[in-house]
Amino acid sequence: MSDHYETLGVSRDASDADIKKAYRKLARTLHPDVNPGHEDEFKAVSRAYDVLSDPQKRRNYDLGGGENGQAAGGAGFGGFSDLFETFFGGGGGGGRPQPASRVRRGQDALVALHIDLRTAAFGGTADVEIVTADLCGTCEGEGTRAGTRVSTCTVCDGHGSVQQMTRTLLGQMVTNQTCPKCGGYGTVIDDPCQNCHGDGRVRANETITVKVPAGVRDGNRIQLAGRGEVGPGGGPRGDLFLEVIVEEHPVFTRDGSDLRCTLTIPMTAAALGATIPLETFDGEQGIEVKAGAQTGDTIRVRGLGAQQLRREGRGDLFVTLAVETPTALDAQQRDLLRQLAEARDETAPTGSAGETKHGPFSRLRERLAGR
Ligand SMILES: [Zn+2]
Ligand SMILES: [Zn+2]
Repeated sequence: MSDHYETLGVSRDASDADIKKAYRKLARTLHPDVNPGHEDEFKAVSRAYDVLSDPQKRRNYDLGGGENGQAAGGAGFGGFSDLFETFFGGGGGGGRPQPASRVRRGQDALVALHIDLRTAAFGGTADVEIVTADLCGTCEGEGTRAGTRVSTCTVCDGHGSVQQMTRTLLGQMVTNQTCPKCGGYGTVIDDPCQNCHGDGRVRANETITVKVPAGVRDGNRIQLAGRGEVGPGGGPRGDLFLEVIVEEHPVFTRDGSDLRCTLTIPMTAAALGATIPLETFDGEQGIEVKAGAQTGDTIRVRGLGAQQLRREGRGDLFVTLAVETPTALDAQQRDLLRQLAEARDETAPTGSAGETKHGPFSRLRERLAGR
């Protein structure tokens, strides 16, 4: 072990100021950022200064104590690492950051999942095609060409960061910056895998079959843990989120857990009453139309709505009637309708503006009038 005075290039009776001056000068020229490859010399200079700048340690060192200035047989103070921390971390905590890992968790992905109303209302499966990042099969995520390995970065010596000394009013400050050569990893891929160019993963199209829970709605998200992108360096997959988009159905619309549809019926059926067949998600159902039914009347069929999400029970089906006025009448039909009009005293029909004749209030009036 070399002599601390020699390391700093000062005499044994050098003053504190001389020691400080000598150290500053050497530290500037030997600092790893300024002059890489002289780390050992730099450490030796730092160690020497640590001892010689502390009166107690210097005395112990002069008296033949330990190399770090501890009294013979006694406990040492501080030591090199303390100074090293102080020097680099500025005493404000921190110190040098760890190099970044090349292996990281993959990103979560958000993809639209188009499903039809039946699947949304009653559950089922749906296929979704996604573009994702998959593990590179050539290098298994390593990013290196077969038979090669990453090498330690020569710029940051594997630290992932480089340190820069700047002069400020408060003295010299050391800041850590991401190594420009290795990007903070501390290692360099000299010979990257030709398949993934060193990323460890490749783009891939994947078709996923998803189980859709009954009762999902537009905008609901289904989370598939671990089905997102593979991470850089072959890291674990993120999660896949599927945002449900329910396609429009030609007949039924969704209203919460209820289903709604419009049923167009002939005028005669509306007038006389009838049971009209309606194809529902539960097969054909007979919709009971009462005599005198009007356009806009809604018939509730209990329990034929959508399944409730994560709950027992179903909503209802609401069938709104639309009464169709007959068109393209032949002579006989016209004649029958004229007879009907005469019988109903409607040959010189009048209309009523404002409230619909068959609205809830008019019906109430009819009932009160005993009609
Ligand atoms: Zn690869
Ligand atoms: Zn580096």
